[in-house]
Amino acid sequence: MPKECCNCCQEEEIICQSCAMPLSDETLFGTEKDGSKNEDYCIYCYKEGAFTEPDLTVDMMIEKGVEFLVKEHGIDAEEAKTIMKEAMQTLKRWRQE
Ligand SMILES: [Zn+2]
Repeated sequence: MPKECCNCCQEEEIICQSCAMPLSDETLFGTEKDGSKNEDYCIYCYKEGAFTEPDLTVDMMIEKGVEFLVKEHGIDAEEAKTIMKEAMQTLKRWRQE
């Protein structure tokens, strides 16, 4: 049984359920075909009702995240990988039911 997150730690913060980017502004929300907002995903992952990269795997997403954390936050690559792996497990797009 996968452990369910209680969300107690991230109640206030909405993050993209694909890449874990904080959705701090509604302009960052993904869009549906009819132009309405999708509050689960960011505009980079989800656009006009579909994932922008439907073939993306969780490993590829982790790689991207690691690159970002190392470059933007100066985090050690190994540590960044651990952070990303844990983050991905909590996201709707990658969660194994
Ligand atoms: Zn995203």
